[in-house]
Amino acid sequence: MLLMSQTWRDIVWCHWSAEGLLRQVIGWREFVWCLYWTQGPAYKELNALNATRPLPPLFTSGSTTMNCVSHVLEDVDTFGWTHHIPRLMVLGNLGLIAGINPRALMDWMSERFVDAAEWVMAPNVIGMALYGDGGVMATKPYAAGGAYIGKMSDFCKDCVFDRKARTGPQACPFTTLYWDFLDRHHDQLRSNHRMARQVAASTKLSDIQEVRIRAREVLSHLDEGAL
Ligand code: SF4
Repeated sequence: MLLMSQTWRDIVWCHWSAEGLLRQVIGWREFVWCLYWTQGPAYKELNALNATRPLPPLFTSGSTTMNCVSHVLEDVDTFGWTHHIPRLMVLGNLGLIAGINPRALMDWMSERFVDAAEWVMAPNVIGMALYGDGGVMATKPYAAGGAYIGKMSDFCKDCVFDRKARTGPQACPFTTLYWDFLDRHHDQLRSNHRMARQVAASTKLSDIQEVRIRAREVLSHLDEGAL
């Protein structure tokens, strides 16, 4: 393990590409290990975006019409594991843009994953996936809509939702919630230079009112276990 001095850690955490730099220079595991042991137990309770939604029923039932989420939950149920990317960009991303409480999602992942050591789970779920630490672990929230999931996987072609649509009954919940997330957290995220362009784009949407309405429907369905 490479231990970093406080000064060096501060420098690299302020760097615009700190995550990428650290992966290359000291390794991701070492970064996560150092972060966990330097932040202390209170780190698990951080909730910078004030996300208060309880864990939606689909996380326990495994039943959802979202094809990407359904497949990832099936993997978790079968193997107690799924790769880092679906963890982050499907399950974590859903938690982030739906405003699920970070500690609730971390506890669920800790119960379900065979590799769920606390020093791994706390930084990766609270910090990287849910942005609960407000930018200590990651330099931006890893929020994405259906376009990203469609680009990185083949889930969307067999899904009932349209990854390109953000309003209407067929709109991909990820796409709707992505734009709603940027809108909801506009004031908090607009000064983040890695998010500024996306936040600015959200202010130019001509259908933002419809997005907000559809987002309320999606979140309501999510809470009721009807999504
Ligand atoms: S369309 Fe949306 S919900 Fe369906 S698989 Fe793609 S990203 Fe997931």
